[in-house]
Amino acid sequence: MRRPMVAGNWKMHGSRAANSALLTDLELRVKADWPIDVAVFAPFVYLPDAVRMLTDSSIAVGAQNVCAETSGAFTGEVAAAMLKDIGCSHVLIGHSERRAWYHEDDALIARKIIVALATGLTPILCVGETLQEREAEKTEAVIARQIDAVLKTNGAPAFSRLIVAYEPVWAIGTGRTATPDQAQAVHQFIRGRISGQDANIGGQVRLLYGGSVKAGNAADLFSMPDVDGGLVGGASLNAEEFADICAAAAARH
Ligand code: PEP
Repeated sequence: MRRPMVAGNWKMHGSRAANSALLTDLELRVKADWPIDVAVFAPFVYLPDAVRMLTDSSIAVGAQNVCAETSGAFTGEVAAAMLKDIGCSHVLIGHSERRAWYHEDDALIARKIIVALATGLTPILCVGETLQEREAEKTEAVIARQIDAVLKTNGAPAFSRLIVAYEPVWAIGTGRTATPDQAQAVHQFIRGRISGQDANIGGQVRLLYGGSVKAGNAADLFSMPDVDGGLVGGASLNAEEFADICAAAAARH
């Protein structure tokens, strides 16, 4: 049985005070005995606060990005070892905003996965097609390319140590959620792609759906057989709503 997961991507929102208040509220609402994993992905500068505040909680802390290099003259970058050093356990890699605005390509993303895994971080590999690609019926080709880049560079065993988030670009921050059937179809495709290399690993890998997940649609999305939880952006900035999404994941099975 795959353990459900809900991950909150705060993106570049909040302040030190607001984010601390959000965590305090979240800690009260997310129950430690829910049979799910929960993680929050705070902006870099607030990660030490988040780690400190969540030390004795069931909520893990992750970064929204990581450098593909291990150390050296890379001004403005943050190394995987530094994230590990301050207590992060997870890292988002290949979010569509990184792919679109910072020109991260499949090769760079595959290298980031290598570094994260070598450092002992659990990556959430984000994949997803644009609206144009979906309308051109290229969804499977795009997802295959994004998954294959990591399969080729890292091998199927890497997928036993990472989580995949399917995030259709057209659904991120738009309020336009994929239907449960649309999400299931792509998740099934991703699982099949990985299973083609290793059936056991393909069966075990956790697949999260991201793109305008809210308390009101989470249960329907999470009821699909290959949707193992969610990667939540906007709704993760509201403790009550995020906790309700977590509760929907906890009730999944
Ligand atoms: C995201 O940032 O990964 C995301 C899915 O955002 P939202 O939930 O706001 O669509």
